[in-house]
Amino acid sequence: MPELPEVETVRRQLDERLRDSSIVSVHIFQMGREFPSGKKLIDALVGKRILHISRRAKLLLWDFTDGMTMSAHLKMTGRFVFVDEHVKNGKHDRILFELQHPLYGRQFVMWSDVRKFGYISVLSKKEREEIVSSYGPEPLTTSVEKLADCFVLPKTRKIKSAILDQKTIAGVGNIYADEALFRAGILPMRTLGDISASERLSLAKNIIEILEESLLQQGTSSHDYVDTQGKKGGFLDFLRVYGREGEACRTCAEPISKIILNQRGTHFCRRCQK
Ligand SMILES: [Zn+2]
Repeated sequence: MPELPEVETVRRQLDERLRDSSIVSVHIFQMGREFPSGKKLIDALVGKRILHISRRAKLLLWDFTDGMTMSAHLKMTGRFVFVDEHVKNGKHDRILFELQHPLYGRQFVMWSDVRKFGYISVLSKKEREEIVSSYGPEPLTTSVEKLADCFVLPKTRKIKSAILDQKTIAGVGNIYADEALFRAGILPMRTLGDISASERLSLAKNIIEILEESLLQQGTSSHDYVDTQGKKGGFLDFLRVYGREGEACRTCAEPISKIILNQRGTHFCRRCQK
């Protein structure tokens, strides 16, 4: 699933080209994952002008000048890709947005989704506020100390579960949770009550660093993630534990272990992590 660096990469690319654009038309090829549905969505969007495109956790927010917002969650395989006007819609294409920009002219963005878990919703100002405030702190704009404080309670909770909980900390998913725990030298199955203050600080620092490093590489493409140009991210080669079960640890050569923790594949090094 795209996590913070991938969603932020898409946000930056969309914002650069779509800010100040107006939505001219919306064409739905496949209904069912847009709210409101069908013609109601079209009526709600056509004529809106984009103030900017923002992000909260893994949610993309197209904020309009009239205070309304279109939110989009990519989930597993959702994507926004700039396309040519004459593009033929493919099997997984769901919605085509036609936009007019004062400088760039007409642009077309296709919303596609192979696995169909992604969704698009039109939100009022109040609904946007409720959603935005339901997430934990954003790691890229929160201090190391404040982020470390997220990992104190409840004492019986496993550290990896805490990192994945979007209400505890926003935007981190399975890949960066495993990688940050490896870098901090902490085993994923340990409980919050068992983790020292210095370990918490190290974890927070590593979460921030790894997200920033991945962002510089336009994110990680471990599955189907692509950016708005259809390009894969470059961070995959930098992963040290995620997806490397049985391969030699890059620090100590011990084979990387994989277990299932809270239904999620969890990768770690038995020797480097304590
Ligand atoms: Zn190791």
